[in-house]
Amino acid sequence: MLKPGTIGILGGGQLARMLGLAAARLGLRCHVYSPEKNSCAFDVVHAGTCASYEDETALGRFAGSVDVITYEFENVPAKTAAFLSRRRPVLPDPKVLETTQDRLVEKNFISALKIATAPYAPVHSATQLAEAVDAVGLPAVLKTRQLGYDGKGQAKIAKGGDPVAAWRSVQNAPCILEGFIKFEREVSVVAARSRDGKVECFEVTENEHRDHILKMSRVPAKVTPALTHEARQVATRIAKAFDYVGVLAVEMFVVRRGRWHTVLVNEIAPRVHNSGHWTIDGASVSQFEQHIRAVAGWPLAKPVRLGQRVEMVNLIGEEVNEAARWLTVPGAAVHVYG
Ligand code: AMP
Repeated sequence: MLKPGTIGILGGGQLARMLGLAAARLGLRCHVYSPEKNSCAFDVVHAGTCASYEDETALGRFAGSVDVITYEFENVPAKTAAFLSRRRPVLPDPKVLETTQDRLVEKNFISALKIATAPYAPVHSATQLAEAVDAVGLPAVLKTRQLGYDGKGQAKIAKGGDPVAAWRSVQNAPCILEGFIKFEREVSVVAARSRDGKVECFEVTENEHRDHILKMSRVPAKVTPALTHEARQVATRIAKAFDYVGVLAVEMFVVRRGRWHTVLVNEIAPRVHNSGHWTIDGASVSQFEQHIRAVAGWPLAKPVRLGQRVEMVNLIGEEVNEAARWLTVPGAAVHVYG
């Protein structure tokens, strides 16, 4: 158990900022490492380093000043993670990143656990593209294997559409083709796993996206108790299979199978997640505190929802100007992070 200790965080965006605030409440300090000068996490933490992820002198100094290192984003360069993990524990273990940084490796990992996903196939060549279309069918979504988020590096192929044009639109990068799922809703489970292997899941959260960006999250989700159990089991099994330490989020599609509903896993985020923001004000413990507790070697809290229902609305871009309107709404909490 870290006490009093310093947690190093790679990345300086909103998630690092919220982690820093949660750590401060527990009496722990954070040192944020980010290549961007204007990182909003710098404003709230004990120490900050602004340097590139390739700068080994700065990375070495950073590692020397902290007890444990974590990260707020999944695209931490493998070399940076390896360099740091020779000096300090990096949690979650960077081997998780090798899986989650590549959609094909991630889907294969999930499938090996016998957890359902959309049908998918690799696409590395024009021949393989045709084979993938035959195997998966149309409509489908072509996604680059790496560095895709919020719908970037994705192209939908309609029934009767032109797969080659879609592949061209993602610059013929290595891809996976996924069957387009007619889901009833999208949900996520944010789960924490402690250093001694205990798992605590937050409630299943229902999510709505706009232009591929999370716009709204709601709890409780409109799902049956059986589906709740299934979704939490899926997240727990994934966390265990990774021997994970910290918070992860599993995004899922809810689909109907005859009279029943079931989940298909879309994506794993090896970090705190936007769909868990509601836990800051809407639960007895936030996802950020759970993550800090896990990486610091503390016991996890048992999350309890505060209130009958909770909604998180993401104010995207100019919409941040709407924040003022929410300031006086009863029961609303406003978070502005630049
Ligand atoms: P992703 O970048 O994979 O998280 O996708 C972003 C969003 O695109 C998801 O939250 C879904 O709304 C939509 N989406 C992604 N993949 C599929 C799919 N195979 N079928 C239907 N919708 C999808």
